[in-house]
Amino acid sequence: MSITIGLMMHCMFSRPWLMLHGALLKVRLDSNVFVGNGLIAMYGKCGCLLEARRALDEVPSRDVVSWNSMVAGYAQNMQFDDALEVCREMEALKQKPDADLLGRAGQVDEAYNFIKQMPVEPNERVWGALLSSCRVYSNMDIGLLAADNLLQLAPEQSGYYVLLSNIYAKAGRWKEVTAVRSLMKRRRIRKTPGISNVELNNQVHTFLAGDTLHPQSKEIYEELGVLVGKMKELGYVPETDSALHDVEEEDKECHLAVHSEKLAIVFALLNTQNSPIRITKNLRVCGDCHIAAKLISKIAGREIVVRDTNRFHHFKDGICSCGDYW
Ligand code: ZN
Ligand code: ZN
Repeated sequence: MSITIGLMMHCMFSRPWLMLHGALLKVRLDSNVFVGNGLIAMYGKCGCLLEARRALDEVPSRDVVSWNSMVAGYAQNMQFDDALEVCREMEALKQKPDADLLGRAGQVDEAYNFIKQMPVEPNERVWGALLSSCRVYSNMDIGLLAADNLLQLAPEQSGYYVLLSNIYAKAGRWKEVTAVRSLMKRRRIRKTPGISNVELNNQVHTFLAGDTLHPQSKEIYEELGVLVGKMKELGYVPETDSALHDVEEEDKECHLAVHSEKLAIVFALLNTQNSPIRITKNLRVCGDCHIAAKLISKIAGREIVVRDTNRFHHFKDGICSCGDYW
């Protein structure tokens, strides 16, 4: 299975790719829903939407992933009318479109129009995905609209207030940043402390921001210092933006260098050899930790997988699988 998908990736954009589909058809591999879904996604990614649609029609036991891959294919290629049409087909079959599909290409306006026309009422996940892309692409107008909907749908979720405050901060609107913070205080929205977990020899090690209680703390901070030096040689500049405004992540008084995921990563580097490092984080990874994890994966030659509240981040050779969108 993985060989098949690997081959498909390799063949993407090339003629052999189409020949491969022919071969798959012959041996009836795409009667397998996983292979079929891989085909739909790969065709969608390289813009071969007719082929993607054909693959969707040919998968006999298509599931929600098949349909979502098709919607994603159209959305990624800016064919929002077709994406909507597939959403309607999904609705008729009682399937739900996946919110992660939205806004990834930076086309926040199109994504918003897409949401407005969705046949189902946009839920928290849909608005949340849109708000995230507004933060990434600095779209204040739509960001405020998304935040408005979210604060009604989920008034207790601190993460949305933080995203909103980040959008204001990025635009230099400090008065509004303060207003959002006051609103959080008035509504008694509690910030969750950042915690990262990493497993070693069947034992879970937990790190808090600025943690000094772990028995290997001294060693961890020393190694982190060495790594930060190497990171700076590669052009790393600590991203103070996240330190000041990602109040969701950690208290702003906590220095960026000691966010819990950094400690967990260094701990795993010190105690394991070649295996991928797997971390879980209870909050969204901040911009600075994201850059740090990318650089550490390159410097240490290690694969680092961080599962945060939004998604999996696979850091390898200085690049993250999320494409810096999360
Ligand atoms: Zn961080
Ligand atoms: Zn990432």
